Amino acid sequence: MNSVCENFRRVRSEVDAAAAAAGRNGRDILLLAVSKTFPASDIRALYGMGVRDFGENRIQELETKSAELPQDIVWHFIGSLQSNKIRKAVKLASVIHSVDSVSAVERLDRIAEEEGRHVKFLLEVNVSGEASKSGVPKADFMALARAAAACRYAVFSGLMTMAPLDAPVEMLDAVFGGLAELRDRAEKELHVPLPLLSMGMSGDFVNAVSHGSTIVRIGTAIFGRR
Ligand SMILES: *Cc1c(COP(=O)(O)O)cnc(C)c1O
Repeated sequence: MNSVCENFRRVRSEVDAAAAAAGRNGRDILLLAVSKTFPASDIRALYGMGVRDFGENRIQELETKSAELPQDIVWHFIGSLQSNKIRKAVKLASVIHSVDSVSAVERLDRIAEEEGRHVKFLLEVNVSGEASKSGVPKADFMALARAAAACRYAVFSGLMTMAPLDAPVEMLDAVFGGLAELRDRAEKELHVPLPLLSMGMSGDFVNAVSHGSTIVRIGTAIFGRR
């Protein structure tokens, strides 16, 4: 079997094992194959075994790949969302993971309406407070969530975060547990269902699953090193 397919199967069973260990069902966790920088042929191999959800972090690359690959692929945009790229993101992606400002929320909702697409989006939160990280600071999250919940066309569906690279387990617990708490708080205060918690990458998905992740974004462990 193609090694990318083998890797996907292995990671899938690791995610399922992490779910079982946390008393969860692996079927509630989407394994998002982060295909950025890797060729369309790798995506086709996974597509051939039934994988449909792929993540890209650059609009140009997403545009090129989506044009040459099957139309029923569900694209997730996980990169930083510049305002002049929002229209393309709305047209090409089903889920946008990386919305982190009120202006982006408002623009996204207006463009979603113009394009007639009920695109789902997540708010990216900088839970760790690392200066280098994108995402809304925790202190500003509720105000942003309020703006997101007011959208009429784009669908506020959950939260996303990234933990610092090689973080110790205590920090992973704080970041992933912290994101889950923010989600619970927003659901309660804003009365919106927020089923999607996008957290966990190749090095930390087991911990993220233990804190309730519903989408793990895995690149390296499936496709190899970039
Ligand atoms: C690249 C990327 C990933 C995948 O990271 P790996 O460590 O390669 O699994 C996940 N999330 C985002 C936002 C990324 O940019």
